[in-house]
Amino acid sequence: MMIQDEYIDFAIARQKHIALIAHDTKKHELIEWVEKNKDILKNHFLCGTGTTARLIVDKTGLPVKAYNSGPLGGDQQIGSRIVEGNIDFVIFFWDPLSSQPHDPDVKALLRICVVYDIPVANNRSTADFLITSQYMNDDYERHVLNYNKVIQGRLDELAK
Ligand code: PGA
Repeated sequence: MMIQDEYIDFAIARQKHIALIAHDTKKHELIEWVEKNKDILKNHFLCGTGTTARLIVDKTGLPVKAYNSGPLGGDQQIGSRIVEGNIDFVIFFWDPLSSQPHDPDVKALLRICVVYDIPVANNRSTADFLITSQYMNDDYERHVLNYNKVIQGRLDELAK
């Protein structure tokens, strides 16, 4: 990778690191979706926000690493794992009909997904399209802004 390159490619490996999150009114839908896709999901690493992760473990038997509960910072933890390169796929069924105490965190996580070119499904149809994608069984190169170049550009700007 060269400092002048605009973007850096990161591989989303065949075995993906998938974060699963659902707001309370959407938890049932997510659990149903996970159950339906269990045979695919068991081949990947799963994690999720606290309550969602616990429910998925209890109802489907799949192993899911639990972060903190969403309102207590779980979405932010998942965002930071994305920045670090340790989560590369997100299924997040958020509730469009009610406001959440942690709405800023939800927005922040969705923003980080875009910055890091992470596939993210916010409803069942998108999740169905993602899970049936050819890239589920393959590597995929995501394109991320070259932070070295961004930092250098800002330093150059500040030095003027
Ligand atoms: P929860 O958090 O899984 O702990 O309910 C989800 C969220 O509200 O972001």
